Amino acid sequence: MLSILQCMNCNRQYPIDAVIYTCEECGGLLDVQHDLDTLRKTVTRDTFDQRLGTYEAPYNSGVWRYKELIYPDVKQEYIVSRPEGNTNLYHSPKLAQWAGVKTLYLKHEGENPTGSFKDRGMTGGLTQARVLGMKRVACASTGNTSASLAAYAAFGGLEGIVFFQNKQIALGKLSQAIAYGSTCIQIAADFDKNLELVRQVGIELGIYVLNSINPFRLEGQKSIVIEAIQQLRWKVPDWIVLPGGNLGNTSAFSKALYELHKLGLIDRIPRLAIIQAEGANPLYRSFVKEFESYEPMHAETLATAIKIGNPVNYPKAVRAVMWTDGVVEQVSDQEILDAKALIDGQGIGCEPASGCSLAGVRKLVNGGIIKPTETVVGILTGHLLKDPDATISYHRDELGTLKANYPNHLHQAEPSVEAISQILMGKGEAQTA
Ligand SMILES: *Cc1c(COP(=O)(O)O)cnc(C)c1O
Ligand SMILES: [Zn+2]
Repeated sequence: MLSILQCMNCNRQYPIDAVIYTCEECGGLLDVQHDLDTLRKTVTRDTFDQRLGTYEAPYNSGVWRYKELIYPDVKQEYIVSRPEGNTNLYHSPKLAQWAGVKTLYLKHEGENPTGSFKDRGMTGGLTQARVLGMKRVACASTGNTSASLAAYAAFGGLEGIVFFQNKQIALGKLSQAIAYGSTCIQIAADFDKNLELVRQVGIELGIYVLNSINPFRLEGQKSIVIEAIQQLRWKVPDWIVLPGGNLGNTSAFSKALYELHKLGLIDRIPRLAIIQAEGANPLYRSFVKEFESYEPMHAETLATAIKIGNPVNYPKAVRAVMWTDGVVEQVSDQEILDAKALIDGQGIGCEPASGCSLAGVRKLVNGGIIKPTETVVGILTGHLLKDPDATISYHRDELGTLKANYPNHLHQAEPSVEAISQILMGKGEAQTA
């Protein structure tokens, strides 16, 4: 029951160990295709439930627990796992109320080893790099992909190479890539241009490219929704809501849901709601035109993880909307940062891009798309500590035209009990630092 690579357009097939990223025939994106007919006979919910809580690698990972659905035939010795996944699914009545739904769960992918869901993709990508005997792996990144690649490359004994854009990189992410020892190159270009460059350099120098065009990364990221549904005791939510940047998660989620349904592990497919920032919304603009046209754009948003104007996985995202009866919505930076502040204020916390999920639920409820009685799982994609600048600037209300609607002011006090008491008794001036 060997898996193969298959073009999503022309269905041409390639061996699983071919080093290609797009179809040689038509340029289409590739899927890792598993033998679903065999899996249907061998895999049950029990297969995965029995592995819960184990210390045994690789099943202690929230990705490799589902090995049969991710990369069934891979030999254990190749697997590079921290282990990742096993992230919490928070039930948040307060945020649910704010968003206007009865039941809202937030799956916190910031709880992965390097602080974002990218780790679930990287364990797949680095594992394949070792299967192929590669020595060097590279990516272009808005930040989290590079942090993750750097860690997994080092952990797996490979050289990591990351291309950064020259501005607006969140400090938490840059510092991770440097600390984990990757070769870091800052390039005077935006993400979309860097992605083009990394693909060319990869081909010329024989370096394995691990951007989300790489289908093995998407296989790993499928585990986010599989794990969420297992955490719900296999009861399928009505909606899964997520931020959309390069649309890797969008593609991975829909493939996971499609396969789970085919395998009889879920009885219906939840609807996906993909939320983009207004300043980086090529999928949204295409969606409102019923996908009749697609135009790459120059991207601008404070949510740097989704500041992408030409998402490589666009064709798979269109398929995702079809497969899941999905919708695409946009939210403003103001809505993103306010939603983030509310998530942070509940003690959960996330980076700006993740705010899309909560902001998006509220907007879709207001628009009558999500019904208040429906069950929603929102994905928090990255950790609060990834982008401290964004958080501090918000609470200082130093974001130019944007306003901090839920600020937590930093008080200043003289070193005396009296001065401190004044603040704590509510008499102190609410000074902002
Ligand atoms: C990568 C990333 C995204 C965007 O995910 P895509 O799969 O590229 O759409 C969103 N949020 C965070 C924190 C990310 O790191
Ligand atoms: Zn093709």
